[in-house]
Amino acid sequence: MVNKIEEAADRPKSIVGQEWVITEREYMESYLRDETPDALRPPAAEELILVKPSSTEEVSKILKTANEMRIPVFPAGGRTGLVGGCVPTERGIILSLEKMNKIEVDKENLMAIAEAGATLADLIKAADDADLFFPLHPGDEGAQIGGLISTNAGGVRAVKYGVMRNYVKGLEVVLPTGEILNFGGLLIKNNTGYDLMHLIIGSEGTLCVITKAVIKLYPKSKHSVTLILPYDGRAEAIGTVPEILKSGVIPLAIEYVGIKELNKAAEHLGEDWPIHKGNAQLIIILSGSSEDEIYSACESIAEIAEKNNAYEAVIAETREEQESILRIRSNIYTALKSEMIDILDVTVPISRLSDLMNRIDKIAEKYGVYLPVYGHAGDGNLHIHLMKEDGKIPKYIKEIKNEIYSAGIQLGGVITGEHGIGKLRIEEFQMFFSEKGISLMREIKRIFDPNNILNPGKIFPSR
Ligand SMILES: Cc1cc2nc3c(=O)[nH]c(=O)nc-3n(C[C@H](O)[C@H](O)[C@H](O)COP(=O)(O)OP(=O)(O)OC[C@H]3O[C@@H](n4cnc5c(N)ncnc54)[C@H](O)[C@@H]3O)c2cc1C
Repeated sequence: MVNKIEEAADRPKSIVGQEWVITEREYMESYLRDETPDALRPPAAEELILVKPSSTEEVSKILKTANEMRIPVFPAGGRTGLVGGCVPTERGIILSLEKMNKIEVDKENLMAIAEAGATLADLIKAADDADLFFPLHPGDEGAQIGGLISTNAGGVRAVKYGVMRNYVKGLEVVLPTGEILNFGGLLIKNNTGYDLMHLIIGSEGTLCVITKAVIKLYPKSKHSVTLILPYDGRAEAIGTVPEILKSGVIPLAIEYVGIKELNKAAEHLGEDWPIHKGNAQLIIILSGSSEDEIYSACESIAEIAEKNNAYEAVIAETREEQESILRIRSNIYTALKSEMIDILDVTVPISRLSDLMNRIDKIAEKYGVYLPVYGHAGDGNLHIHLMKEDGKIPKYIKEIKNEIYSAGIQLGGVITGEHGIGKLRIEEFQMFFSEKGISLMREIKRIFDPNNILNPGKIFPSR
């Protein structure tokens, strides 16, 4: 063990070059945090170095060295995570793959081969340039491929094509020993032994470092529209969701949002939310290969909505209008952030969404707090914000959180549908998940990373 982390910087310098090993704190500030709200974000350790490799071989040498020296390594992506997953909470190395950001598109196989440091914005653009489409859209396009895969990101467009796991067809990863492994490829089917690739997806940087991925793309839809359905009552809005899904229409996205939060986000961006009727709204994105297909889907949805007491639907057709709606929806988090303590992402069966919301209302009433709730209704995945009261953290915040989690579990759900465990949810993970399940996961972690150098203190408590 070296005592001063600077002493450990010499070997990475000889691997990646002097200029790509940063030891001065002032030049690594933005790597010490993610997007977790300030009130709960874990503090970064004092002794850290930041290393920026430019190839898989360099990643391999750094991990091998760190493993030999027993120095923790914290893989960092775009630092947009919401549970402190990439925050370097112990002395060690922050590993940023931002220089590894190449993307090639294989048009024949409809796949992108992307290095882990490329951003979501880069991937969307590369697909678009090749006349293809990457549908997934978690709110912040600064997220990187490595982070999206390590968190198995979801977002607003998961109803039709699924979450990140459904897109990943191949992975190149580096184990803590420095060994480089490849799984899958430009393949639709792969049934070779245990599916280690899918074990790595969602493992939050604790098993290996992802360096490259093969990602499924789709042909661009010729037509898309965004519908806004306003309702006076939340129950009617939420009640519409399973009806739409049962009708055979499969939208790209079905989002539930309250008008109060939408107006806040629009104001925050200096934009205008296009529809002010109704307290509760559904935002539905539809895509298809012909105008007829889309308009017939719109009609079916409008009929279902009418039966559930919606006001007349508003249809956004131009790209600009649709992008503005998505932008405002994606910025609810940012608009609420300064007053926020935490953002939960409990997920329940779609049929139990209304029940979960009613339970949350009761919890809000019991403790006298404001709990904004909105989210990916088509996935049964709600974002529940815990807010400050008069600028302060409410006394019973832990009780409020645990009652929301308990409600989710009792309704057949899970405590997190997309953000993961990271540093923030370790206690709740232990409370609401089976002991045996956690002990199996710990064993898996030990097999991949016997010296516990990769993202220690995440998912499981520190040693
Ligand atoms: C405004 C906003 C909206 C959001 N909306 C959504 C949403 O709708 N759905 C959703 O799922 N998420 C959402 N998020 C959360 C976040 O964007 C996602 O979790 C995203 O996938 C994180 O990617 P990242 O590159 O920023 O990862 P980081 O935050 O940098 O890291 C996340 C985890 O991945 C690990 N990691 C990063 N790179 C690698 C690598 N190369 N190899 C191994 N491990 C690695 C880190 O160690 C860490 O554990 C939102 C965030 C914001 C700020």
